[in-house]
Amino acid sequence: MQFKKDIPLSRFSHYKIGGVARFFFEPKNEKEITWAITEAKANKVPVFILGGGTNLLLSDDGFQGLVIKPALMDVKAKGARVNVGAGVLMADLLQYTVKNAMSGLEWAGGLPGTFGGAIRGNAGCFGGEIKDAIISVRSFNPKTMKFVERSAQACAFHYRDSIFKHKGANEIIVSAQLQMARGKATLIKSSIQEKIAHRTKHHPLEYPNIGSMFKNIPLTNLHPASSKAYHAALAKGELSFRGSHFSVKTDPFPVISAAKLISESGLSGVSFGGAMISAKHPNFIVNALEATAFDIKTLLTLAKSTVQQKFGVTLEEEVQIVDSLPETLVNS
Ligand SMILES: Cc1cc2nc3c(=O)[nH]c(=O)nc-3n(C[C@H](O)[C@H](O)[C@H](O)COP(=O)(O)OP(=O)(O)OC[C@H]3O[C@@H](n4cnc5c(N)ncnc54)[C@H](O)[C@@H]3O)c2cc1C
Repeated sequence: MQFKKDIPLSRFSHYKIGGVARFFFEPKNEKEITWAITEAKANKVPVFILGGGTNLLLSDDGFQGLVIKPALMDVKAKGARVNVGAGVLMADLLQYTVKNAMSGLEWAGGLPGTFGGAIRGNAGCFGGEIKDAIISVRSFNPKTMKFVERSAQACAFHYRDSIFKHKGANEIIVSAQLQMARGKATLIKSSIQEKIAHRTKHHPLEYPNIGSMFKNIPLTNLHPASSKAYHAALAKGELSFRGSHFSVKTDPFPVISAAKLISESGLSGVSFGGAMISAKHPNFIVNALEATAFDIKTLLTLAKSTVQQKFGVTLEEEVQIVDSLPETLVNS
């Protein structure tokens, strides 16, 4: 076995952005993961785990270490329980559920990226979250060099969060077991297609992107939950705030849209270098024309400061910005 060398990360980024990785490896099984980490530790090489690259802004300077992209691709069912490898694309997993008439993941129609990436961030949309179907998750701990099996409860899933999100490269998700329900293939398929159609209509998928850049803003950030204004906004499903009008949606708690805050700040369609704040969906900063990470970061900073100035609201990144040397060392 050998690591590949000097691999452009832009190839593996949904954004088509990212410099060169010094080393690159796609382990196909647990033995290969153990080998890669053993080598990285022996040579004191920092490690970063890459899934589908759909939630990452990778540095123009690349990564001076080893990028491990888990390529465990098995999908095996036993009754309504399915064991899925971390490298399986969500789109392929959904096709499998249609083919085998298994219901429970329809909400994920059009969700890009890998199964492992979805578990790490507890990906969710259209009222569903990956945690809803998880029975257990198997992962590898590079510190102890041991595989760990956790129940869904022990994974500490929360809104776009899990125990894995707080461990960096110090825990590699390998596979997980899902509990599915028997369903009707035609209904499962049409439900998935509905979600894909919604995304195609509302998201700027014609450009390379990494989805919503910022989290929606909890209503409690604008008005305390005990206040009259909070309850009035909840009851009406809308509110006026600093001269602008916002809908209140439950996602999964009452929020106002980051996209609306950005558009009300006059930033729809604004561009810098090759990057552009989408006019179709202003919470997307797209790679309109060979953008660099610097271009994207400039617009990200502009959006944050303008919204802060106009509304006094702090936008929080939903995407992950990966610097050339993040604190993802496994040398201990
Ligand atoms: C068009 C578009 C729409 C999107 N819509 C949604 C949405 O509706 N809801 C939503 O929640 N997200 C959405 N996203 C964001 C993104 O698709 C999800 O967060 C996705 O689950 C990330 O998976 P990934 O494999 O691409 O992970 P990556 O982007 O490659 O990585 C994300 C993080 O997970 C870590 N990671 C990846 N694989 C593993 C592993 N096996 N073990 C340990 N850590 C790992 C990485 O180190 C990184 O920190 C969207 C993105 C796009 C581009």
